[in-house]
Amino acid sequence: MAVPLFDTATPLEPIRGQIRDAIERVVDGGRFILGPEVSAFEEEFASACGVEHAVGVANGTDALEIALRGLGVGPGDEVVVPSFTFFASAEAIPPTGARPVFCDVDPDTGCVTAETVKAALTPKTKAVIAVDLFGNPAPIPMIAELGLPVLEDAAQAAGATLDGRPAGSLGSAATFSFFPSKNLGAFGDGGAIVSDDQAVAERARTLRFHGSRDKRSFEEIGRNSRLDELQAAILRVELPLVGSWAEGRRAAADYYLEAGLADLVKPIETVSGAQPAWHLFVVRHERADEIAAGLVDLGIEARGYYRTPVHRQPAMREWTQGVDLPATDELARTNLALPISPVLTQSQADEVVAALRAVINELA
Ligand SMILES: *Cc1c(COP(=O)(O)O)cnc(C)c1O
Repeated sequence: MAVPLFDTATPLEPIRGQIRDAIERVVDGGRFILGPEVSAFEEEFASACGVEHAVGVANGTDALEIALRGLGVGPGDEVVVPSFTFFASAEAIPPTGARPVFCDVDPDTGCVTAETVKAALTPKTKAVIAVDLFGNPAPIPMIAELGLPVLEDAAQAAGATLDGRPAGSLGSAATFSFFPSKNLGAFGDGGAIVSDDQAVAERARTLRFHGSRDKRSFEEIGRNSRLDELQAAILRVELPLVGSWAEGRRAAADYYLEAGLADLVKPIETVSGAQPAWHLFVVRHERADEIAAGLVDLGIEARGYYRTPVHRQPAMREWTQGVDLPATDELARTNLALPISPVLTQSQADEVVAALRAVINELA
């Protein structure tokens, strides 16, 4: 049987009726931008993240840029960011006027650490972006001890915890993406900034609406970047399930290990104290691309992520002279994402591991 990389449809089946009702409520209400659904979602999402404030925006990339500006990042500043991540983590920095400074990651967890961040600090560093990569929360409390604001890019981590604290509550502020394939996915684009800091949330609220508090006076150049009412209404139906979806993803990871996966490849390690939300289930192998091709031939979707890490992307040329990130380069070359979802079964995991064993034996 074919096993897809993601299964976004099956987990939504039990709530399809509720989602239809939510959409109808918005259509009947006739308010589509910054109305009651967005306000209610912001309250519910802040509470789920264990923080005071949430601000809905148009996508996870805007969330990062707006959160950076909310933290006071601007021209002349530097922001430390990993290179082994989705491009958007770093793409959000130059529009603030600041410069991205790339740091390495722990090759076993895929996440930044206090040591890799420290190596990239200069007197100009204004903030650090820590990515909860693949849903594995970065060790943010240790990074925060370096004394700089940490922006948690939690786009992949809805439903994860670190030492019992939810992803989104670990740094000075956090950002989420509600892109449809993310752990909490809308039916279109969406994003949010969450923070305990009232000033950061206020600034984000102003920036998402053209730099205005009252729609009459425009205090600074902002953006037009809002989460819309339809997406907020859909996300409100899904939000109560995010914890159980993350549990299903962790169970799927356990099925893989029980099936003997770790004898064949090296799974990404959980950060100490973390309950990851495994947005992607990633393993490492020197011949990752050949294995991916073999698995795809057997109907099992598998794919390497971020093969060209951000610091090697042409758009980043201006900021990457002399940057050398050996762990990033190794992970970029050797990583392989296997199918994962909240509903992946033991028998699917057994099938994937059996296929992996067959493909690896072929290679040898
Ligand atoms: C998806 C993602 C983003 C960007 O989110 P969009 O909603 O697609 O703009 C940012 N950072 C990471 C780590 C992501 O995975």
